[in-house]
Amino acid sequence: TRHIALASRPTGEPTAENFRLETVDLPELAEGQVLVRNEVMSVDPYMRGRMDDRESYVAPFAVDAPLDGGAVGEVVASRSEAVAVGQHVLHGLGWREHAVLPGDRVSVVDTDAAPASAYLGILGMPGLTAYAGLTAVAEMKEGDIVFVSGAAGAVGSAVGQIAKALGAEKVIGSAGSPEKVQRVRELGFDEAFGYRDRPVRQSLRELAPSGIDVYFDNVGGEHLEAAIGSLRLFGRVAMCGAIAQYNATEPAPGPRNLALAIGKNLTLRGFIVGHYDHLAAEYRERATQWLADGRLQADETFREGLDAAPQAFIDLLGGANTGKMLVRL
Ligand code: NDP
Repeated sequence: TRHIALASRPTGEPTAENFRLETVDLPELAEGQVLVRNEVMSVDPYMRGRMDDRESYVAPFAVDAPLDGGAVGEVVASRSEAVAVGQHVLHGLGWREHAVLPGDRVSVVDTDAAPASAYLGILGMPGLTAYAGLTAVAEMKEGDIVFVSGAAGAVGSAVGQIAKALGAEKVIGSAGSPEKVQRVRELGFDEAFGYRDRPVRQSLRELAPSGIDVYFDNVGGEHLEAAIGSLRLFGRVAMCGAIAQYNATEPAPGPRNLALAIGKNLTLRGFIVGHYDHLAAEYRERATQWLADGRLQADETFREGLDAAPQAFIDLLGGANTGKMLVRL
């Protein structure tokens, strides 16, 4: 079977040379373990941070060891009471064609109810990130004006649609290309703009002349500074990601207008979705309903085959995806 190992740590933008495809033998299953044939795996922006050797909320990847991450596959052998052959499971050993792991480290998913990929996207970690960030972190209320960056991405596209479903007065999104801006509008955002054409600050001022109440930040940098400028009294920022600086080799300076937070009584609150598991069941139930009634749509961008995984990851950071970026194995 084959996996992708980290060949070297990227400096700045990752390149193909940072990855290595390796062929290995599968170990015998130990008592309690299952063998999963992976069908789909996730590439996510947070993986870039794990490729650097620095302390964070997840341990760095080791050089010369296989990468890991979210994946869904079919159990093809089991020595675990908890999981049967033929079941589909979500687990954390992606970047490989087969995974061997303890039966209590996988969760069974219903691939009749939703495709396997949904459990890595809208019904999985990115979907919960959108919901938890909006409701628990930004404490969005009915009637709020909500702005989200990365609006055509996995998290951002869910944020805007969920905000509408929860009664936002107006939802504005930004994205990196005219095609994405168009798509974001089709998803039901009231307004959308491209951030590459002109200053974010200017677009926000035009599209939200009275200001915004919530900013869901996937990007950091110029977006965050512009949002701070537009936030109204008691505005709230859910600090979800800062992808504009993931490939930076030096720490980026903070927003120059941060002191506005004082006079406007702003809340800027970071979060990691792993601390919001208590909302997972509630989210899954609501999302299933929203998907069924059409209020929530989830785009996916697929790449084919394990060999394509490194480039899929590189392209994700570059914005090649609309919706969730996935690799079909
Ligand atoms: P996306 O599907 O949004 O993919 C990443 C997107 O980022 C790209 O498509 C690209 O879109 C955009 N992007 C890349 N570079 C820049 C840049 N310089 N400025 C603005 N946009 C850029 O990924 P996810 O939905 O999985 O993740 C979105 C964010 O949420 C990331 O920051 C991620 O780290 C964070 N996250 C945080 C979690 C948490 O627990 N806090 C959990 C999950 C995700 P475009 O073409 O529009 O530029």
